[in-house]
Amino acid sequence: MTYSIVPYTIAYANELVSDPIAFERHADEMRLTYLKPRRRDWVHGILHARVLDLRDWQDRRGSERMRKLNRLRQELCMDRALCQVCGHPATDPLTGRIPWLLTSTVLEQTGPDSGRTNAPPTCWTCIPKALEQCPMLQLDYTLYTVAGRTSAGVLADLYEPLLGTQWPALDKRNVFIAWDAIRDQARALATCRVVELHGMKAVS
Ligand SMILES: [Zn+2]
Repeated sequence: MTYSIVPYTIAYANELVSDPIAFERHADEMRLTYLKPRRRDWVHGILHARVLDLRDWQDRRGSERMRKLNRLRQELCMDRALCQVCGHPATDPLTGRIPWLLTSTVLEQTGPDSGRTNAPPTCWTCIPKALEQCPMLQLDYTLYTVAGRTSAGVLADLYEPLLGTQWPALDKRNVFIAWDAIRDQARALATCRVVELHGMKAVS
């Protein structure tokens, strides 16, 4: 799969981190941690996968991993409504609404005009490029404009301790964990941010 433009949110090989994780007894539960923990590994009590964000494009080396998101840039896009392709603000300055291009696989409807997604917005300028170059979008997509968004939680991989050890075995991938859902948080490794979109309008 080749893109002529590498989207802003994609991780490069030299940004990927493979620091080991393990379970650690914490009060009365087993909790996932990096072997050498840092305070910023946790957000709202959930362990987050480490990744580097090389701000200077020239420092990003190695093949881009087209299916692998850079978690830090994905979060930045969600927090600041930046375009996932070019990294610039996606909000339409005329209407104040955010264009949001979604496939059905990354949208979970939560109400008549609201839904949860881990896909960041795409600015008007980049939408034609994205439609032309992204194979997922060629299969199915809906273009929305969105009034606003709130941070809902994360997508995480869930682990279980290998019988009688502290070592983690992968149990489930890409599970949505809400910020306030206590269950499963101790065994989650977050890989990206999920937001809830409000005031969604499909663009024909
Ligand atoms: Zn863009």
